[in-house]
Amino acid sequence: MTAYPVDLDRWRQAGRIAARARDLGVRLVVPGASRRDVAEAIEAAIRDEGAAPAFPANLSRNQEAAHYTPSVDDEEEFVAGDLVKVDVGAHLDGALADTADTVEVGGTHRHENLVRAAREALAAGIARVRPGVAVDELSRAIASAIRARGLKPIEDLTGHSIERYLLHAGKAIPNVPGGSAASLLEGEVVAIEPFATNGIGRISNGPFGNIARFRSDPGSSDPVLARLYGRFRTLPFALRWADGPGETEALRRARRSLQTYPVFLERGQGLVAQAEHTVLVGATGAEILTSSAAP
Ligand code: MN
Ligand code: MN
Repeated sequence: MTAYPVDLDRWRQAGRIAARARDLGVRLVVPGASRRDVAEAIEAAIRDEGAAPAFPANLSRNQEAAHYTPSVDDEEEFVAGDLVKVDVGAHLDGALADTADTVEVGGTHRHENLVRAAREALAAGIARVRPGVAVDELSRAIASAIRARGLKPIEDLTGHSIERYLLHAGKAIPNVPGGSAASLLEGEVVAIEPFATNGIGRISNGPFGNIARFRSDPGSSDPVLARLYGRFRTLPFALRWADGPGETEALRRARRSLQTYPVFLERGQGLVAQAEHTVLVGATGAEILTSSAAP
């Protein structure tokens, strides 16, 4: 049984756009660059290609594993030695791509072991992809690759299946074995995203990371809110995307019907590296939709 997306070419195109935006972000994360400027450049690159960000550009640093995007008044600049996860999503009419890589700012080469562990784990997971494979086989390969470098996989962050307008569509791809009884199906789109750390391999919730999402349609009683929902649907968005004080105020009023995301921090205060691709489960193996090499 196969269940490819009916508009597969659109998913491929979203993947190429996300990959280019990720690579742009990787180039822009240099000492002295402002976090907000880099996030906005990534998101602008996605929009310039006719897509929309599937979530705000995540630029989590060092012990932050995920879910930090700059606020509108974030004045922080990257400094040499920062370990920055550039995590980027794009969508075309709900056809989604999600991809990440880790940059060591200024090329200081202090954390290369972490960066390589995450990338090697991603490659090891992708190499196992085929129709019918147990997800646990991917998890085992991911964890082994990270442990081979003397590091720990983060066990409470996982990859995920993706469906139209649904970034986390129900099937988890754990980064350690023993967490899934599922198998991959031909035609499925999944994001594989190992996280490697020199900490304890678990996360805790930190402060609000400036990312929120509508849990459901807020209805038409508040026209500003209805407009915002029309723009973001149920995908995550950045508070800095609010267009003017009217929208900012509407979001503040709606705070309780929004899901807000905390920054994920490594619980042992370890440094964290991440690598992520969105892949299609093809008949003979993975088709990487967010590859740099894609034309
Ligand atoms: Mn991601
Ligand atoms: Mn993801």
